[in-house]
Amino acid sequence: MFIEVAVPAPLTHALTYSVPPLLGVKPVPGSRVLVELGRRKVLGLALQLTERAPAGVERIKDIVDVLDAEPIVPPELLRFLVELSGYYLAPMGEVMKLALPVLSKGEAARVTEQEPRLQLKSVGKRVQYVEVIPEAETPELKGQASEILSHLRERGAMPVARLEEQWKNARPAVSRLRQLGLVRVEDRELPRDPFFREPIPRDQAPPPTEPQRAAMDTIAAALRTPGPSGFLLHGVTGSGKTEVYLNAIAEALALERGALVLVPEIALTPQLVARFRARFGDGLAVLHSGLSQGDRRMMWDLLWQRQVRVAIGARSALFAPVPDLGLLIVDEEHDSSFKQEEGVRYNARDMAILRGHRAGAVCVLGSATPSLETEHLVRERRITRLRLPGRARAASILPRVEVIDMRKAERSPCGDPRLSLPLHQAIEETLARREQVILFLNRRGFAPSVVCESCGTISMCPLCSVPLTYHRTTGLVRCHYCDHQRRFDGKCRRCRSTQLSLEGLGTERLEDTIQQVFPAARVARLDRDVASGSKAEAILDQVRAHEVDILIGTQMVAKGHDIPRVTLVGVINADGALSMPDLRATERTFQLLVQVAGRAGRGEVQGRVLLQTRDPSNPAIVSATRHDVDGFLERELMARSELAYPPFSRMVMVRIDAPDEPRCRHAATQLAAAARASTPVHIGEVEVLGPAPAPIARLRARYRFQILLKSRERRPLRYVAQVILDAEHKLPQGLRVVVDVDPISML
Ligand code: ADP
Ligand code: ZN
Ligand code: ZN
Repeated sequence: MFIEVAVPAPLTHALTYSVPPLLGVKPVPGSRVLVELGRRKVLGLALQLTERAPAGVERIKDIVDVLDAEPIVPPELLRFLVELSGYYLAPMGEVMKLALPVLSKGEAARVTEQEPRLQLKSVGKRVQYVEVIPEAETPELKGQASEILSHLRERGAMPVARLEEQWKNARPAVSRLRQLGLVRVEDRELPRDPFFREPIPRDQAPPPTEPQRAAMDTIAAALRTPGPSGFLLHGVTGSGKTEVYLNAIAEALALERGALVLVPEIALTPQLVARFRARFGDGLAVLHSGLSQGDRRMMWDLLWQRQVRVAIGARSALFAPVPDLGLLIVDEEHDSSFKQEEGVRYNARDMAILRGHRAGAVCVLGSATPSLETEHLVRERRITRLRLPGRARAASILPRVEVIDMRKAERSPCGDPRLSLPLHQAIEETLARREQVILFLNRRGFAPSVVCESCGTISMCPLCSVPLTYHRTTGLVRCHYCDHQRRFDGKCRRCRSTQLSLEGLGTERLEDTIQQVFPAARVARLDRDVASGSKAEAILDQVRAHEVDILIGTQMVAKGHDIPRVTLVGVINADGALSMPDLRATERTFQLLVQVAGRAGRGEVQGRVLLQTRDPSNPAIVSATRHDVDGFLERELMARSELAYPPFSRMVMVRIDAPDEPRCRHAATQLAAAARASTPVHIGEVEVLGPAPAPIARLRARYRFQILLKSRERRPLRYVAQVILDAEHKLPQGLRVVVDVDPISML
């Protein structure tokens, strides 16, 4: 017997090993096996048993050991991973790692130190709990140990893993407490609530609106019908899509099937998660990047053992081991964060459709502003559109959107040319009514560039071809593309002049200006500089509690927040993203504007949205003012079709980078030539564009070139991409080639 094993190595294919007859446990597809890879022993995942040895391989090694007699992932997920690896031309081992937190490096190492089974058994259903010994006398304690002790006194017993989320040194601190006889540590059964959080009061579904009912019925019927099906739940912001999701999940559960919910950024959607928890309580696994290794493993076990049947999370939740998968939901399916931009460059939206299809499940993509890809699928009748035309709460109507032409508009009395009089007045009026304002600006920092007035030099990142952004709060100039930052000393690096001009407007500066113009208003800012993870939640909580009058922020303020007292949304620079060298610039601008606008008037009062622009006739802006999603889609699809851009063609982006420019250019030219020479006329045409310097021509001290492959069909495209990957091995050292299938970022 032979077995194909996916190993954690940069190989696109699996390796074949033989199964020695005397092995105690027989491997099955989906069990972890210990194998030799070169001189190392690594943990791999068994894919498939075969009778015959592969041709042309001289010596086939035996597998060393088998860790699981039962598969540790659903067979459906295993096949899906193999397919995904082929689709993205990505190393199988890398793809497996996406799905298996169990294949972590540390563990593989520990396993190789003999006793493989013993080690991994301990991570079953039991977890380490720590509890205070009440009668113990407390000595003087300092630091984390003391904090943890009082936390435990207040909250009672809890898993060590939970403490680790809050205190970096929780483990050493706990063992010190144990040595002092203050706490006891023991293995306990998993609690029912996978998050050990205080319970959220359960709620009940409101009676659905007519369109909600229709959508729910259609999805329920599809769930009961064998075989896969797909839907676009197309409803304006606030139309009640979430209720439809909740209902669909309840239906799937009633049929004893599991569900998977993907959301763009879990940290920004605590409200959404709370609504899921209110409906499904402990039956929900919330997967997010803040989970400790232990908690992640636990979620994974709970799902796999069917104790929890619903998983919600950001894109990586796509790989959750939900058995009997019946339903996949992708909320805000147009969001570009579903695309992973490093490692395996998969798009969780596209792959959710694929996984759903292979699993015979129902896939629901939800959006107020569908991506052109999804709209195209609807028009090709591959998926079905379900519409929610109006807002769910009767009193809530869509906001009025007005355009302010910044070429003509009067300036605000504060004199700042980037703030118009109409927006200034609208803010004033809103504050006077004791309502709230959101101001959207898609630029972090104080000033996006620093220019020397005597010699004209722009301060650039030394590692990237990108201007440095001045951040006043920290007194730094920073590159937003790499980690480079340095103290801002007020002097030109070239001529030492101190006449520096801080140009452009970032959220920091806007916050500053607004606070000066409206001194009585409580102003808060929400962007990546002030808010990561739970901090965003805290700021939004303040806004919800009306402890903030004006919230200023980047696209973090655009996501699905539902704050009834926000009645005015101001977009400072609606053109911001339009000038990006990206075929999706118009689409993205439109989606963003509609999303931001959707934050206004979620309550009983009609909201107002003001868009400041220098390009008022741009289709993205015109359509956004009219809430004309269909018109926009129609128009943009036409434009894409004329240029044979996706979704009317498929693309693969090849990026080549290297520390020096001539070698990089040379290699890129070689690869492009190889691609052109290989064009497989027998299976279809492939257009090879480039090489050209990337829009960001240098990043992290590496020069970058791009080759774009374009074709109507996927097959010839993959063929040429493979030719490039094969040619890559012959390139000199120091060059890096990345193949990005269905690229989103063109930078
Ligand atoms: P979406 O996900 O489409 O943006 P939500 O599901 O968040 O919309 O719904 C918007 C608001 O309307 C929420 O406050 C929700 O509780 C409420 N809502 C949804 N459906 C109904 C309904 N059938 N009756 C009353 N209120 C509803
Ligand atoms: Zn200068
Ligand atoms: Zn940089």
